[in-house]
Amino acid sequence: MELTRLTALELGAAIKRGGVSVREAVQAALDAAARDKELNAFITVTGERALERAEALQAGVKDAKSPLYGVPMAIKDNICTKGVKTSCASKILGEFAPPYDAAVVERLADAGAVSLGKLNMDEFAMGSTSETSFYGPVKNPWDLERAPGGSSGGAAAAVAAGMGWYAVGSDTGGSIRQPASCCGVTGMKPTYGTVSRYGLIAYASSLDQIGPLCKDAADCAAILDVLQGKDAKDGTSLDGRYGHLLDGLTGDVKGLKIGLPADCFGDGLDGDVRASVLAAAEVLKGRGAEVVELPFPVMEYVVPAYYIIAAAEASSNLSRFDGVKYGWRAEEYEGLADLYRRTRTQGFGSEVKRRILLGTFVLSSGYYDAYYKKALQVKAVITDAFDRAFERCDLLLTPVAPSTAPKLGESLSDPLQMYLSDVYTVSVNLAGLPGLSMPCGFDGKGLPIGAQLIGPHFGEGVLLNAAHAFQQDTDYHKRTPEGGGPA
Ligand code: GLN
Repeated sequence: MELTRLTALELGAAIKRGGVSVREAVQAALDAAARDKELNAFITVTGERALERAEALQAGVKDAKSPLYGVPMAIKDNICTKGVKTSCASKILGEFAPPYDAAVVERLADAGAVSLGKLNMDEFAMGSTSETSFYGPVKNPWDLERAPGGSSGGAAAAVAAGMGWYAVGSDTGGSIRQPASCCGVTGMKPTYGTVSRYGLIAYASSLDQIGPLCKDAADCAAILDVLQGKDAKDGTSLDGRYGHLLDGLTGDVKGLKIGLPADCFGDGLDGDVRASVLAAAEVLKGRGAEVVELPFPVMEYVVPAYYIIAAAEASSNLSRFDGVKYGWRAEEYEGLADLYRRTRTQGFGSEVKRRILLGTFVLSSGYYDAYYKKALQVKAVITDAFDRAFERCDLLLTPVAPSTAPKLGESLSDPLQMYLSDVYTVSVNLAGLPGLSMPCGFDGKGLPIGAQLIGPHFGEGVLLNAAHAFQQDTDYHKRTPEGGGPA
């Protein structure tokens, strides 16, 4: 079997057994990445570094503790990597090479990960199609005329195309789950606080969370076992409350109550997506889970509340990019105010500027109560709706997005339409919950469809086990764009 078809855990086991060398694994991923001219999934490929690291790691294979030891992976370009350009896909960060590694990068390195490089994304993680990148759009490996979803589109495309066995991305309102869905891979946003955000370039700090994009739920569990836990450098990080997630994957879902929120299956949802997600519920039922319909009457408020809160926090977080402290500076300017103005005008793309303007507006003294404060109140109502739902079920099952991967160029002309496509994912961030996207079918055009499982706070174990159970009875997660797409 081709190496790139193995899961990260299978590859890790083969490396440990001595059947595959770390160098062979790195070389296989780099060979696949040669196709990246088409996809544009990477902003920076650190091939030489990866090959050097492979040699160093090979010496320690026998003593390796992590099941992911020696497995090549890649990192979204908003996560700091010491000495390697971290651009956030923005001109304003220019050639910024951070002087330190993000906490997740350190943890992965300690577990024996090999990084292949930095992944393309929407500028500052703002977008749902990976088209707002300064480095050009990412293409979907299932159909090059379509977007891979976003903002972690490079991560999802790379994993789907065999350029690395997993990736770490960030999810503020769906940026791991939605591209995972569009590219047919498994992706998870953990409970807020599960993974340290130290070294993640902030978009909206109360919503941002780092998580894996990978081949299946078992890989997801193994990666989270490495990433999770308290970090003194991130005050919002929490000590692992899950035990060892990988060991908890039994595939037993007997008696598990899965809630189908009726309000998530209404108008605006593509027919193929609806049918595939409902079929996923049947698969879990077949393994002994109970499926219950329940109301979730807040859907019309989630997108407006999210875009007000996210833009408000972004306008504050992005004020540090001014041409003085980091990155790029306008070449010509007259005086300090002009330096700021020209640097920010030329350095940010239009989607980022739109969010900064919106965020500054909703935080301004005359409008704070009407918009920002109101959005925070709505956030509390949404959290309450989830609490009520979890009184009646253990997990929720919903679509990830209303439709499959959009055509490139379609959503750039209509940002509001793009915002609305985030309707199934943003509420999970507003409530700080864990959410997972798993491949559950293909539409009539042969494009992957994702189903979302949502758990209560710290419900990671139950969530991953349900996804694992689903993947025991289905093989959508095993199909690749090169072969074995829709059956
Ligand atoms: N599409 C959403 C946005 O543009 C979510 C992005 C994200 O999760 N980073 O804000």
